[in-house]
Amino acid sequence: MEHVFSIDPVRFLSDLHHLRSFGATGTGVVRPAFSEIDVASREWLASRMEAAGLTPHMDPAGNLFGLAEGPSLLIGSHSDTQPEGGWLDGALGVIMGLEIARAAREAGGPAISCVSFQDEEGRYGALTGSDIWAGKTTLAEADSLRSIDGETFAEGRKAVAHMAGEFVDPGQFTGFVECHIEQGPVLDTAKEAVGVVTSIVGARQVQVTVRGQQNHAGTTPMALRKDAFQGVVRIATMLNDRLRNLVTPQTVWTIGHVRVSPNASSIVPGEAVFTIQWRDGDNDRLERMEKVITSILVEVASGTGLKIEAERLRHDILPKPMDSAIHDALAKAAGQVAPGKWRSMPSGALHDASNVSHLMPVGMLFVPSIRGISHSFDEDTAEDDLATGLMVLARAAAELAPKG
Ligand SMILES: [Zn+2]
Repeated sequence: MEHVFSIDPVRFLSDLHHLRSFGATGTGVVRPAFSEIDVASREWLASRMEAAGLTPHMDPAGNLFGLAEGPSLLIGSHSDTQPEGGWLDGALGVIMGLEIARAAREAGGPAISCVSFQDEEGRYGALTGSDIWAGKTTLAEADSLRSIDGETFAEGRKAVAHMAGEFVDPGQFTGFVECHIEQGPVLDTAKEAVGVVTSIVGARQVQVTVRGQQNHAGTTPMALRKDAFQGVVRIATMLNDRLRNLVTPQTVWTIGHVRVSPNASSIVPGEAVFTIQWRDGDNDRLERMEKVITSILVEVASGTGLKIEAERLRHDILPKPMDSAIHDALAKAAGQVAPGKWRSMPSGALHDASNVSHLMPVGMLFVPSIRGISHSFDEDTAEDDLATGLMVLARAAAELAPKG
C-alpha cells in the first residue's frame, strides 16, 4: 500500500533542530530529566502537538503524549538526555512521532499519536517514565529514587506539576513503534540506512569470586602458588575459546569489573572478584552460555585448587522479541524506501519499547550512528539517513495505524 499521507522532511528537520536548541552545548545536548531546560522543551513540544491538532497530555511521571482521538498507533521515544548527551538519542524518535502524527492528522487519518517518555537516560532510575507507565515500578516506588545530586524523583516531577494530569490508558493504542539511533557501528560500517529490530537483547550477569592464597611474590615458587588473578585470566581465555562455538556475531560477553586483592605489586593475589555479563536476543542461547560458563568455573577450580563461587547480584533481563506484524511492516517499507540498504538486527541496548512491550505490540527501527558513537557530544547521523528513517517509519505507520 502506498502511504496515504505526505511527510514533510523539512518541517521534521526544523523541529528536530529546534528541540536540539534546548540544552545545546557545542555539538551535543545537556537536557537531563526535569531540569529547567527539559521542562521548557516539554512545554514547547506540547505546543507543537497542539498546533498539529493533537491533544497534549502529560502523565504524573512526566511522559508527554500527543493524542489522536479514538484508537491510534503510538510513535515516539524519549527527549531527556545523558549528562553529556548527543542531539539525536531519543529526540529523533520523538520528533519522527510528532511529524508522522501531524501529517496523518492533516490527511484526515489514519489515527496516530506520539509520545516523549521521561528519564529514559536514568537521572533518577533507568527508563523510569516508561517503567512506571508499564506498571513495572509504581509512582510511589519511583518517587524515592534519587539523582546523583540527591534530588528525588518526587521532587523532580514537581517541576511539571503545572502540566501533569492522569495516566494515559494504554488500551487506546494498537501498538507502539520507536525509531532510535543505532548507538553502534553495524549500519554505518555496512553503509546501510536502516535497521529493523528483531528483538531487544536480554542480559545475564554473575559475580565470580576466586579465592587462592595470598603470599610473598618473591619467595613463593610458581608451582606452589594459588594465584587468584591467574584464575581470572584462565577463565577469561576459556570463555573466549568455548563461547565462540555457540554464539552469533551479535552475541556479546564482557568481564567489565575486576577487583584484585590486595592489589599490590609484590603480593600474590589471594582473592579476585569479577563480573561476567552476557547478552543475546535468544533466551535459550543465554541459557546455553550460562551452562558453559558454569562448567568453565568448575573446571578451573578443580584444575588449580582455587575456590570459585558465582552469584547473581541482579535480575536477568529477558530478551524482548518485537511484534512480527510490526517488524514485517517496517521491513516491507525499508525494502521500498531503501532497497538493498537495510537489514534486520537485534538491539543491544535497552529502550522504552522494551517496557511498552508489556502493554501492547511494539516494533523498532534504527538509523546509523556515524562511527557508532553515542552518549557523546560527537553523536551524529547523516541527514539523508534521518530522512530515510522517517520515510520508512511513515510508510509502516500508514499500514499499521487503525483506519477508523
Ligand atoms: Zn535513547
